[in-house]
Amino acid sequence: MEMKESIMESEEYLLHTYNRYQVVFDHGEGVYLYDTEGKKYLDFCAGIAVQALGYGNKKYDTALKSQIDKLLHTSNYFYSEPLREAAKKVIKASGMSRVFFTNSGAEAIEGAIKAARKYAYLKDKKNDHEIIAMRKSFHGRSLGALSVTGNEHYQEPFKPLIGGIKFAQYNDIESVKACLSDRTCAIILETIQGEGGIYPAEDAFIEEIQRICDERDILLILDEIQCGMGRTGTMYAFSQYQVHPDIVTTAKALGCGVPVGAFLLNEKTAKNSLVPGDHGTTYGGNPFVCQAVSTVFDIFEEDHILEHVNEIAPYLEQKLDELVEKYEIIAERRGRGLMQGLEFAEPVAGKIVAKAVENGLILITAGTNVIRFVPPLVIEKEHVDQMAEIFEKILKSM
Ligand SMILES: *Cc1c(COP(=O)(O)O)cnc(C)c1O
Repeated sequence: MEMKESIMESEEYLLHTYNRYQVVFDHGEGVYLYDTEGKKYLDFCAGIAVQALGYGNKKYDTALKSQIDKLLHTSNYFYSEPLREAAKKVIKASGMSRVFFTNSGAEAIEGAIKAARKYAYLKDKKNDHEIIAMRKSFHGRSLGALSVTGNEHYQEPFKPLIGGIKFAQYNDIESVKACLSDRTCAIILETIQGEGGIYPAEDAFIEEIQRICDERDILLILDEIQCGMGRTGTMYAFSQYQVHPDIVTTAKALGCGVPVGAFLLNEKTAKNSLVPGDHGTTYGGNPFVCQAVSTVFDIFEEDHILEHVNEIAPYLEQKLDELVEKYEIIAERRGRGLMQGLEFAEPVAGKIVAKAVENGLILITAGTNVIRFVPPLVIEKEHVDQMAEIFEKILKSM
């Protein structure tokens, strides 16, 4: 079917919650996507930081195909070999103690909130605990995750949300201290804010939060759903700071395309929070998605993905810095590794991304004035050059 026709028919049936670009994708290969009319696109979005290995990875595809032939799903009443493998690998990679697999990032956040509340409840049997979250954060669209998402526009129509949430300013420790009370049970933040505009946590900020949490037995929840899985050059971004989170959430690139997330607990939290009957999911961690997770960790190791990120990321930074130097309209570059953002002096991000799509380059925004670069981790220098060339062409045309 022709793209125009296909899009019109889709729009007859889909709930209109997205303003999609006028593209129907057919397949991917490496770091490129192809639409149904054969046009090729360089992908610097990676399905929103999901397709860390790009498209058509042979090892990954073969592992998933063979799992389809064996077993897709059994429920969490039983064990499976892929579940064992995936659990062992995510725990080894993160340095945490226990994992609960979910179907999405938002559900990982829900689990993290429940574990934190249960931990506090077991201490004092009270139901009035508070969580401190950050302004400009993004933790997902379900009601619990939305409640800790510091975006008034996303929240307003859906109130009342869950209670006991206070918002502090990211990278402003005094505003966090102002939110503290004797009912504070957890502080939740992204190690690097993604959707809010690509803001890495400053060392002093996150390390002072850690100190406060240690002092008062408040749980530190780090959301690594976007910045985790090697994107910043280490498997999880928090390991670049002097912190030891109690709960970590992960998703997006965890399964590189299959819907899977997880929340990870340290020993203290695992021993003193959720028990049988407290939490569950029908699909979460089924053999199919766990085969994906397990294989992703294998490929990261065998193909030296982290080393590759550390090699290629400085080149991307350099190219982006050159653009900042050259174009008045670009205010600054922020980010770590292959999670980068360019902030513009004007709200032109949407317009630039639309033009990029026309020019065969997939990018995403992070707010109205930031362009986000979260490519597959397997990009090469030539792809960075190609991206920069198209990007400059667009800037010149504006
Ligand atoms: C994407 C994202 C989420 C939500 O994940 P979903 O799978 O869309 O529910 C939560 N936190 C962060 C930091 C994210 O980037």
